[in-house]
Amino acid sequence: MPRTFPAGLFIRAVLGALFYLACFTFVSAKDEMTSSLLIGNARIDIRIEESTLRIPTKDVLHWVKSAAESVAAYYGRFPIPQVLIRITPFKGRGVHNGMTFGDRGGRITILVGNETSPSEFASDWMLTHEMVHLAFPSVHENHHWIEEGIATYVEPIARIQARNLKAEQMWLDLVRDMPQGLPQVGDRGLDYTHTWGRTYWGGALFCLLADVEIRRQTNNGKGLEHALRGILDAGGDIRREWNLEDALRIGDRSVGVNVLEPLYARMKDKPETVDLNSVWTQLGVQSDGTSVHFDDNATLAAVRRAITTRESTATLDPTFFKLVAVFVGRAVGLRGWPARLNRNSG
Ligand SMILES: [Zn+2]
Repeated sequence: MPRTFPAGLFIRAVLGALFYLACFTFVSAKDEMTSSLLIGNARIDIRIEESTLRIPTKDVLHWVKSAAESVAAYYGRFPIPQVLIRITPFKGRGVHNGMTFGDRGGRITILVGNETSPSEFASDWMLTHEMVHLAFPSVHENHHWIEEGIATYVEPIARIQARNLKAEQMWLDLVRDMPQGLPQVGDRGLDYTHTWGRTYWGGALFCLLADVEIRRQTNNGKGLEHALRGILDAGGDIRREWNLEDALRIGDRSVGVNVLEPLYARMKDKPETVDLNSVWTQLGVQSDGTSVHFDDNATLAAVRRAITTRESTATLDPTFFKLVAVFVGRAVGLRGWPARLNRNSG
């Protein structure tokens, strides 16, 4: 879930790493398997460490493809030209500890249990979350909430748009989880309150409010996804370091209404309270905690429907995804990579 860009350390680390890698070409070579998935003009390299993953490779590739399809559905394309996904197997089941990095052209590291079933892969959200991180620039650590907030908010919408999740499930989860993003006693605003709840769900709350407001002001012509696509198209992906204000200004310009900048001004250094019950009522989301019912007569029912609807223009042809190559055997892995490049800045 965390993403990191090793900032000033990067150049020095790369120089050091080149040498390091050369030194480790032979001693670090292990049986590893690398597959490459072509998605539009982007390439996804999937490297499974040490070939100890006992589950079928096709299950792993299908899981990666589904996550990539989700992200491409939301952004209209895969966010960056090339990404390396390094999978480390562990004993057990499930998907854990995803991390996304902006160095070396973009990479994701993630743990996969060697007993993970196809249905567990199908319900995984973490890889989609990590791939969403690729689509926004690295910003100052005070604004970590926007990086995690976008990943938290966009992930289920992207999966719904790619038909990998039901809209009912997302709204049920949002009604349950979003209160964790509300300010607690002592809160000093999103930029200055670095708790888990405010980082992930406070950031997601910012995104929800922005999405609803952009759609309300544009009569559903635009939404947060168009603002985020605008930022991405302006070069704002994880490989770049940007000022948050610049990203938000470009986002607002992309949708033609001023929403992100004023919302940020309200939430950055003050504990802005939000009446979530009123938000759900206006959107027509009624939850009893175990199931959700939609009220299509609610004021903003059309906004709710638009949030999870895939743009009709974003049609991906069936040849969009191609498995280009699978290399099985010895590969020069990343095992010789200096530990500091793999650090998790939280
Ligand atoms: Zn994350």
